[in-house]
Amino acid sequence: MLKLETIISLAKRRGIIFQSSEIYGGLNGCWDFGPLGVELLRNLKELWWRAMTYRDDIEGLDASILMHPRTWEASGHISQFTDPMIDNKVSKARYRADNLIEEFIERMQKKEKFELAREIELRLSNAKTPADFYQIIIDYKIPDPVSGTTEWTEVRNFNLMFKTFIGPVEDDASVVYLRPETAQGIYVNFKNVLDSSRQKIPFGIAQIGKAFRNEINTKNFLFRTREFEQMEMQYFVRPGTEDEWFEYWLNERFQWFVDIGFSKEKLRFKEHEKLAHYASRAVDIEFLFPFGWGEIEGIHSRTDYDLRNHQEFSGKRLEYFDPNTNEKFIPYVVETSGGVTRTLMAILCNSYDEEDVPSEKGTLERRVVLRLNPNLAPIKVATFPLVNKDGMPEFAQKIYSDVQRHFKAMYDDSGAIGRRYRRQDEIGTPYCVTVDGETLQNSTVTIRDRDSMEQVRIDASQIIQFLKDKLSL
Ligand code: ATP
Repeated sequence: MLKLETIISLAKRRGIIFQSSEIYGGLNGCWDFGPLGVELLRNLKELWWRAMTYRDDIEGLDASILMHPRTWEASGHISQFTDPMIDNKVSKARYRADNLIEEFIERMQKKEKFELAREIELRLSNAKTPADFYQIIIDYKIPDPVSGTTEWTEVRNFNLMFKTFIGPVEDDASVVYLRPETAQGIYVNFKNVLDSSRQKIPFGIAQIGKAFRNEINTKNFLFRTREFEQMEMQYFVRPGTEDEWFEYWLNERFQWFVDIGFSKEKLRFKEHEKLAHYASRAVDIEFLFPFGWGEIEGIHSRTDYDLRNHQEFSGKRLEYFDPNTNEKFIPYVVETSGGVTRTLMAILCNSYDEEDVPSEKGTLERRVVLRLNPNLAPIKVATFPLVNKDGMPEFAQKIYSDVQRHFKAMYDDSGAIGRRYRRQDEIGTPYCVTVDGETLQNSTVTIRDRDSMEQVRIDASQIIQFLKDKLSL
């Protein structure tokens, strides 16, 4: 069974992901992407961008992170984007009240107290206010997992948005928020995009960008962080057609994850029973992480909730005029909302593999291989001289600099050739080119495939064409 620690340590060792501000002890819920991580991240975003915007009906956008504070009143984030929090007075540990109750239910199930578990579950599904959560915790004497005591504070709603101030004065009038989702930047630009493009409904607007949430429990590496990146698309449709577009996007998005290399067995749909304040239907695409199933993308039917509210709060009309029917209406929205950074972590988990392969000494050797879709791989090709003499390094250097003009490449001349292959396998490099004695005679090189480990000989002048045939990024 793959452990998350294995991925975290590989990511650090190979310069994929580091803890943020590590030399100061780190900052919880924030991570930095190293030299290979940033390549992987860019490739992932590029694949999404191409799939979502290189088509007739979707336009791209890059809105600013700071937005007019009224945006968040209209969207409901100021009043609704909260988690119910409770503190234990003895241990001082802080919990999300609903998580605390859920974990207690799980413990009861493990102890086979099914009736009690069901009873609490039912109360939890009806709980709405902080007082409801508090009453469940008190009624069932749910203890603090740390101190074992039941001395709790009240449950309070805690807003997840980061607040800051614009301009030199730190007063209420200058409060702004770091956006907790990219979607609102799309809604407030709906009219601008509509008026400046030739789109007709149905059409979408796509955006990739940072989002920030002051999550209480940051955990599981990139899964729940305070700063993360989203890739979101809002699809504007005629009211009454949202169900069919919902099905369409559900299938499109699932297929995209399969296309970029996810194995189908590790993906599933999960229908939401509890809906967010804006949604009429929500289905998650979940991935089987080492710690269990977790959402990587949500498909949401958001009705006209957002556009209608922005119209009301801004006083600007956000209707669509249909020239064919002479009707005016506020479009309904189907949203696809994915996390770039969370998906990147899923990709690492999905592609990690270990296997025993014959070594140069004839024994078996364990190799770690990231079976990444070649388009996602941070390095597309590594170039090696078999030995550091006889003109091989010069030949290999020349190949490296030629290839680098088209694809991210790497040159490595240190250690045994087998070890160099292993180093590339571990970071998912799909191809390795080796310059050997024969190269010097007839200008052919070996090109090794990461997954099959098979080598073919090709003319050195064919390398770039070979890679172009295999890769699109
Ligand atoms: P969760 O229930 O896991 O908190 P959510 O339902 O609040 O997620 P959405 O608001 O639908 O998530 O956000 C869309 C996507 O953004 C998620 O599928 C996820 O990939 C990503 N995402 C949301 N919150 C975080 C976070 N704190 N850290 C990393 N990615 C996140």
